[in-house]
Amino acid sequence: MKNRVAIVTGAGSERGIGKAIACKLAKKGAAVIIADLNEKGANIVAEELKEKGYKAVGKEVDVTSRKSIDHLVEAVRHDFGKIDILINNAGIARPTKILEISEEEWDLLFAINMRGVFHCTQAVLPSMIEQGFGRIVNISSIAGKQGGGVFGTSHYAATKAGVLGFSKAAAREVAEYGITVNSVAPGLIDTDITVGMAPELREEKTKLIPLKRSGFPQEVAATVAFLASNEAGYITGEEIDVNGGLLMD
Ligand code: NAP
Repeated sequence: MKNRVAIVTGAGSERGIGKAIACKLAKKGAAVIIADLNEKGANIVAEELKEKGYKAVGKEVDVTSRKSIDHLVEAVRHDFGKIDILINNAGIARPTKILEISEEEWDLLFAINMRGVFHCTQAVLPSMIEQGFGRIVNISSIAGKQGGGVFGTSHYAATKAGVLGFSKAAAREVAEYGITVNSVAPGLIDTDITVGMAPELREEKTKLIPLKRSGFPQEVAATVAFLASNEAGYITGEEIDVNGGLLMD
């Protein structure tokens, strides 16, 4: 990935999947933009990577705001000259049952998990089309395929199912420009979203996983890095499960 420039959204969380993805891409030689609502977290991750000799920079972005996304994309184009890879990872979950979901909470999950993916994709596409190359990887979830999961509540599942459909439609539209769009659907992964689970619930969920354990963010990152690589150039509109066998389809 030498000379590649990658934006990873939601990569400022200390134990998150986004950070693991940013580390993996940086290790492979890409210059990585750690973009997060939490600017301090983004800068800490970027510093960690720079200390290891990798190319990284932390940037604030709110994926619910097109203005904020455009500002990020402009800054990256100005500083790095191009954008080759976009990883739409920023996302939130809420364990609220359907009867208790407010319109505000429904809209918030869609604004981050779904509309954010659309806006970030639309914002980077012109430069990818211009250069005839691009790799976009969207983080969905097992919840988007079967509901359930850890926080497989209806609003979360709906956003993650939306990401899968969006990725396939986008993949068809931009394939002619040398741009691939794929998604990755993790199962139960140890991050801030899941570590706070009640131990009984964790045990119950883990029992259902054929590999009998939760996954590491690095295991999701390895799949994302493959889809973002040159070698994956003939894969588009695909969705890869990283779930320990919890869902096989
Ligand atoms: P995480 O550690 O909470 O990371 C999510 C990151 O997104 C956080 O750094 C968060 O920042 C950031 N973020 C939230 N709202 C944002 C916004 N408006 N603009 C920009 N960044 C924003 O969670 P994670 O588990 O690594 O999740 C990463 C992705 O994987 C999510 O899309 C999630 O749905 C998906 N996923 C996770 C699992 C799992 O088991 N962990 C399973 C399937 C799918 P703040 O900390 O400031 O809120």
